[in-house]
Amino acid sequence: MSDVAKPKKHAPQPPSTSNFIRAAIEADLASGKYATRAWGGKPGPARTHEGAAQDPARIRTRFPPEPNGYLHIGHAKSICLNFGLALDYGGACHLRFDDTNPEKEEQEYVDSIIAAVKWLGFNWEHEGGSHLYYASDYFDFMYHAAEHLIEDGHAYVDSLSAEQMRALRGTLSEPGKSSPYRDRGVAESLKLFRQMREGRFKEGEHVLRARIDMGSPNINLRDPAIYRIRKASHHRTGDKWCVYPMYTYAHPIEDALERITHSLCTLEFEDQRPFYDWLLERLAEGGLLARPLPQQIEFARLNLTYVVLSKRRLIQLVEEKHVSGWDDPRMPTLAGARRRGYTPEGFRRFAERIGVAKADSWIEYSVLEDCMREHLNEAAPRRMAVLDPVKLVIDNYAEGGEERCDVPNHPQQPERGRRAVPFSRELWIEREDVTETPPKGYFRLFPGNEVRLRYAFLVKCVSVEKDAAGNVTAVHCTYDPGTKSGTPGAEARKVKGNIHWVSARHACRGEVRLYDRLFKVQQPGAGARDFLLDLNPDSVKTITAQLEPALANTRPEERFQFERHGYFVSDAKDSRPGAPVFNRAVTLRDSWGKQGS
Ligand code: ATP
Ligand code: MG
Repeated sequence: MSDVAKPKKHAPQPPSTSNFIRAAIEADLASGKYATRAWGGKPGPARTHEGAAQDPARIRTRFPPEPNGYLHIGHAKSICLNFGLALDYGGACHLRFDDTNPEKEEQEYVDSIIAAVKWLGFNWEHEGGSHLYYASDYFDFMYHAAEHLIEDGHAYVDSLSAEQMRALRGTLSEPGKSSPYRDRGVAESLKLFRQMREGRFKEGEHVLRARIDMGSPNINLRDPAIYRIRKASHHRTGDKWCVYPMYTYAHPIEDALERITHSLCTLEFEDQRPFYDWLLERLAEGGLLARPLPQQIEFARLNLTYVVLSKRRLIQLVEEKHVSGWDDPRMPTLAGARRRGYTPEGFRRFAERIGVAKADSWIEYSVLEDCMREHLNEAAPRRMAVLDPVKLVIDNYAEGGEERCDVPNHPQQPERGRRAVPFSRELWIEREDVTETPPKGYFRLFPGNEVRLRYAFLVKCVSVEKDAAGNVTAVHCTYDPGTKSGTPGAEARKVKGNIHWVSARHACRGEVRLYDRLFKVQQPGAGARDFLLDLNPDSVKTITAQLEPALANTRPEERFQFERHGYFVSDAKDSRPGAPVFNRAVTLRDSWGKQGS
């Protein structure tokens, strides 16, 4: 079995590796900080949870994607972290669509996100409850909370333009200046805010701001905007609203309504934490939200070499057709990785291996590939495929004759059985396994040399046929019938070369896509450079391969090791019975370093 932190269904397990987030959770569990938390069975304000039974979830975390794109490998880190912690500590992890921005969100993205989280092996069920939520379901509460803040003197309607507001906000070294509307009374702000909601104003005419401290050294506390006018249709609430909450206002409220205990986010939100706490305190004081309140904990986002992990750039790659779509196997999306043959187990292993840190750093793409390779090595059955075929003729083998070779499906896992692979007089072998003039240290086929055909016989090269340009077109050999693998005495004579093959008469032709990295430099678009200039022009090579018959009919997404080549997956979209299409997930060894960049 693998050493991956597999999602555990049953009793909480001690975590395999510790980190500062686990330490914080363990300290909270030890102090009983959240022990008396009530859970009213669904997200809601204080009254939903008042008098309810103790929360069966010891902690609550959440993964809160904005449905404005497909998930990428960075999100996988966050998913494994949030869902993994909930599993480890007997908690629940919510999948929450943070769909408070009406403009860029679509159902297609919602569906793809659900599929990706499930594919990674997680779910949002806990103790009979299903915790899939939409932030847009909380719009009523958010609006109500905003009116409450106005009534308590904690918010006001400002009528400056965005530009004027920016000018008064100050800088890191200079305090901000108050807006002339800062002292607007409760009644006037309330009236204007209601009129904003009724659609009486144009976008940008007014905004609702929190009244905190224009002199704060933290710019985020200088009366941040919390509601704005947007005359946009929302993918779920339609035209019900023309005012929408700002993300920084919406997010803490979403967490509190869902009774999240540990709200994990990336480091760029660290400066927002004081506002997060300020807002929730005000609403808890007013009796709107139940205590104990959630706490925000920041961790470093994943930066991975040779890819881009920003939705904006991924959208650009798709829209400008630099790739075939969101699930192009070269894309760093989870949909792309899946089609590429990467595995959920590999991603979970990767998340475990990179851990979480408090400081930003770059992770080498090869670390991810190693994790995939390790899992595929355990999971993928072996097959023989010749990617660059040249004919081998066994001159002393009966014409029309054939026999079966007994081949293990997985050399380290005998329980996975064996299969019969047909052998005959004419075989396909790799072009690189034969040469007329061997360089030093070459052990494969050249005139006079003997090699083993894997799982079959020893053959000795007699001659090589070439075309006018000097390319090898066929190789003639003789075989030794007494050397068949698995028969007594077969191994008596040792040879250094051991090559794979496919019987030409039985072979199945298949399309094989050899993928390489989508970008040719470690940090695409570093500095002010256009990241598109860093695209690798040779990121895919499509070839026709000769495959052993067992590869003719595969299930979509079935993964194999092609011996001596690497790991390949049957393409979920294009593969057909008898006409298979395979994508290369990863080579057997890390060869990128040798190619240079
Ligand atoms: P992008 O910048 O690509 O649009 P995002 O952070 O805006 O990404 P969201 O949908 O808001 O995308 O992210 C959902 C969750 O995934 C957030 O909690 C966010 O912190 C986390 N996340 C996004 N990118 C990364 C990353 N590179 N590493 C770790 N976590 C990430
Ligand atoms: Mg975001």
